[in-house]
Amino acid sequence: MKKRIKKILIANRGEIAVRVIRTCKEMGIHTVAVHSEIDADLPHVRLADEAYCLGPAPARASYLNQEKILEFAKYSKSDAIHPGYGFLAENAGFANAVIRGGFVFIGPRPAEIASLGDKASARQVAMRAGVPVVPGSGGTIASYRKAVSAIKLIGYPVLLKASAGGGGKGMRMVRSPGELHAAFDSSRSEAKAAFGDDRVYVEKYIQSPRHVEVQILADSHGNFIHLGERECSIQRRHQKIIEESPCIALDDNGRNSLFEAALGIVRTTGYSNAGTLEFILDQDGKFYFLEMNTRLQVEHPVTEFRTGIDLVREQILIAQGEKLSFSQSDIDFRGYSIEARICAEDPANSFAPCTGHLKLIQHSSGYGIREETGFAIGNEISSFYDSLLAKLIVWGRTRQEALNRLSSALESYRIYGVKNNLQLCKWIVDHQDFRRGEFDTHFLQEQYSPDKLPGAPEQFLKLVSAGASYIHFSSNRQSGGKATQEVSASKWKLRSYEHYS
Ligand code: ADP
Repeated sequence: MKKRIKKILIANRGEIAVRVIRTCKEMGIHTVAVHSEIDADLPHVRLADEAYCLGPAPARASYLNQEKILEFAKYSKSDAIHPGYGFLAENAGFANAVIRGGFVFIGPRPAEIASLGDKASARQVAMRAGVPVVPGSGGTIASYRKAVSAIKLIGYPVLLKASAGGGGKGMRMVRSPGELHAAFDSSRSEAKAAFGDDRVYVEKYIQSPRHVEVQILADSHGNFIHLGERECSIQRRHQKIIEESPCIALDDNGRNSLFEAALGIVRTTGYSNAGTLEFILDQDGKFYFLEMNTRLQVEHPVTEFRTGIDLVREQILIAQGEKLSFSQSDIDFRGYSIEARICAEDPANSFAPCTGHLKLIQHSSGYGIREETGFAIGNEISSFYDSLLAKLIVWGRTRQEALNRLSSALESYRIYGVKNNLQLCKWIVDHQDFRRGEFDTHFLQEQYSPDKLPGAPEQFLKLVSAGASYIHFSSNRQSGGKATQEVSASKWKLRSYEHYS
C-alpha cells in the first residue's frame, strides 16, 4: 500500500543535502537536516525545517553514525531517509537498518545495493546479462599467487581495484610483474582502511579510454527507462571534474547499444530507483561495463537539464511506491549540458585538497546556468570531508553554446578563502582539444601542467586579505532547531570587491 512521504531526513551534508531539501520543499515535504559539530552553520542546516547535531567532525562520529541518524529519524518522526551520495548511500546494512526501523529508504532495496554496489559482484551480474565487462579476474582475488595467474590470461598493464571501491581508492595501475607485489599489498590495505573490506580484483587496463555512463530510473512495478548518457572522461586521479551530455564520441548506433546494455543489466536484477551504469569506451568504440552506482550521482544535474526531469523527485516517488509517470518515448532530450566541479584543491600541487574559511563567493547566474553549492561565506572547508565546493552546470542548444556559457560562468565565479580549481576548469573548457572532442581519460595528465594557468591577480588578492578582516559574522544556533547566520560587511569592503571583481 502506498503511503505518502511527508517528512524526510537527509543523511548528508553540503550541496547534495541542499539540493534534496529544495525538491522536498517543492513537493511540500518537511525536511530534517543532520550535521557534525563543525558543520552547524552550513546552508543545509539553515534550510531544513529541523536540524540535529550528530557529533564531532570525523565522519565515523557524525555522517556515518548510523545509530544517531536513526535515533534522530525516530525523534523527528520522519517517514523516510535520503542518503544523498557518498557516506551511507551505498551501504546495504544501513538501508536494511532504515527499513527495519520502520522508515522508507530512498534508494534501491538492500539486496540490490549489495549485489550491484559491490564491483566484483556487479561484474558477474553484467556477464549474466550478456554485457561485455573489462577482461579480468572472474571474482575477487585472495592472494598474490591468484593475482599472478589471473594476469597471465589478460596480460599487462592491469588495474587492481577494490571490490567495495569508490573514489579511486584502492586502485593501482600495474605495468609489469615487478610492480605487482607492492601494488597488491597497498591496494588491499588502502581498501581495508577506506571501506573496511580488503577484497580486490584485477582488470585489463584499457589504453586511452573514455568514461561514459547511463542514467536509469526504475520503479518497483517493473518499469524502467534510461535518461541518456553522460561523458565523464575529464578526470584527475581517476576522479571526474567535467561531465557532459550527450557524449560526442558516440554515434546513434553506439549510443543505442549502450542504452540496451545498461537496461539489460537492470532488467536482470529487478532494480528500483535511480541508478547509473558506468562503462569504459575504447578507441575502437567498443564499450565495457565498469560498475553500477546505486544512488544519485554528483553529475545528475546534467541529465536534469537535458530531460527536464527532477531526479530527486522521481527517487522520492519511486520510494513511495508510485509507478513512473512517463515512458521511454516521453523523454525528450534537448541540447547539451556540461558541469564543472569546483573543488577546494590545488591544481599546482598535485590537486592536494585545501582547507580554509570561505571569505567571499561571487556567484554566476544567467540563462541556462545552474549553481549547486552547500557553502556560504564564513563556512569552514575542513579536511574531514570531500573537497567539492560547488558545481556549475550549464545548458546550451549546441555543445559550443554550452561550452561558451560555462567558460563565461567560470570566469565570473569567484571563491576566496580557500584554494580552488576554478581556473583549471576554465582552462579545460577553453582547450582546443576539449572543444574539438579529442580527449580521453588521460587528457589532464597529458595536457596540463601548473604553468599553463595564469596566476591570480595580485592586487585583488591583497585587497581580499585586507578586506576579509572586516567581515564580521555571527552564528546563533538553537539546540535541535534551526541555525541562523548573519553576515555583515562594511560598505567600503563590498564596494571594493565589486570594483575589482
Ligand atoms: P571508482 O569507483 O573508484 O571511481 P571506477 O571503476 O569507476 O572506480 O573507475 C574510475 C576511473 O578509472 C574510470 O572513469 C577510468 O578513468 C579509470 N578506469 C577504471 N577502470 C579502468 C580500466 N580497466 N582501464 C582504464 N581505465 C580505467
